[in-house]
Amino acid sequence: MSHRTGAVLSIGDELTLGQTLDTNSKWVSDRLLAHGVVPVEHATVPDDRAAIAAAIRRLAERADLVVVTGGLGPTADDLTRAGLADAMGDQLVEDAAAVAQIEAYFRARGTPMREINRVQAQRPRRGVCLANPNGTAPGLYGVVRVAKGDVDVVCLPGPPREMKPMFEAEVVPRLKLEAGRHVMTRALHTFGLGESEIATRLGPLMDRDRNPTVGTTASQGVVSCRIRYEGAGDGASEIGKIETEVRTRLGPYVFGADGDTMASVVLDLLRRRGEALSTVESCTGGLLGTMLTDVPGSSDVYVGGWVTYTNTMKTFEIGVPAELITRAGAVSREVAEAMARGGRERSGAAHALAITGIAGPGGGSEAKPVGTVWIARSGPGGDEARKFLFVGERANVRDWSARSALAMLRLALIGERGVKLGRQVE
Ligand code: ATP
Repeated sequence: MSHRTGAVLSIGDELTLGQTLDTNSKWVSDRLLAHGVVPVEHATVPDDRAAIAAAIRRLAERADLVVVTGGLGPTADDLTRAGLADAMGDQLVEDAAAVAQIEAYFRARGTPMREINRVQAQRPRRGVCLANPNGTAPGLYGVVRVAKGDVDVVCLPGPPREMKPMFEAEVVPRLKLEAGRHVMTRALHTFGLGESEIATRLGPLMDRDRNPTVGTTASQGVVSCRIRYEGAGDGASEIGKIETEVRTRLGPYVFGADGDTMASVVLDLLRRRGEALSTVESCTGGLLGTMLTDVPGSSDVYVGGWVTYTNTMKTFEIGVPAELITRAGAVSREVAEAMARGGRERSGAAHALAITGIAGPGGGSEAKPVGTVWIARSGPGGDEARKFLFVGERANVRDWSARSALAMLRLALIGERGVKLGRQVE
């Protein structure tokens, strides 16, 4: 059967207990979708033979291809081999070629194969071992028969550095794609509008029975609109039409697409103008600088910044008058503006962003509750400051603050200074 849909099964006590974050499912799903296989379910089960077998069979009923990761190690709690064999109604046998490969893996590292690793060369009798150049655990390929027909199941090791190259080398060539059928996706990222406001603006575009479909996901204030086309032809023009429609309805709130981040977009805008940026941070403690330096090659635009956490540092490092801090308070329009101006003057960069606020959980008052943050920008087009009231925990307040600072600069650079951002109160 051709692989229209896929399911991903992650195996391991460490995953179900919440000790390790399951990043494999996300990665595998992204890769499946890129090849036109639509992921329809993720499941996670502990190192339990019966649970693994049952999950493989259930997912085989649901999808055309099942990708399993984890549980291929040499110890007693690595039970994916046995679980797959049970799901196939098959027995485990030793694969001579796999034994030779594991021996060669050890020999290349100057040690003999330990007897415990021999179990890793087992496979269901009707299954196939898949080579693992980066570890001792071979992958497995097998076919599980369910009511609708034969479903392919591929098992890969858990460690991402072993799993990813094996997916490319062993799974991709085995994908059975339907000729002429394509899946194409495009993500448009927004910042400054809530998810419900976006849904309202997009209206019927979000109806589930359309093609392309449009769905939204929100993370740390960034709401992404995911457009997905499925059908004959490559879908580029259908996606393009919907993209134009989404951009029209959301206007300047759309800041980028696909792999763009707010920081990468701001850096690109500044790079095109040949202008530099510096930062002065209080409550975000360098988070804004981190977001900017997360982007490779940012040093041609981002010159650096200051973390001026105390009043003394604001005065000593940036020249914010002590008297101003006493009069207006460290979290105020005046101090935010003075921080941005000082950062711009002392760095020599054309632009500066400054953040001062109360991240919580303590430190709030009636007049300035936790979440109150002033963000200022100083640049060639004039200075501005905005007050925000963010909600949520400390990490949330800090994250939103840093992103809002970038958003303010972006809006100024595209000539949209008047656009109000989410949680902005002044
Ligand atoms: P090994 O030969 O290393 O034992 P394995 O196939 O048995 O391979 P596991 O023991 O299940 O793999 O997992 C090994 C490690 O790989 C885990 O401790 C974890 O760090 C990582 N890992 C496993 N599954 C995932 C997952 N779904 N997402 C992210 N990391 C994972």
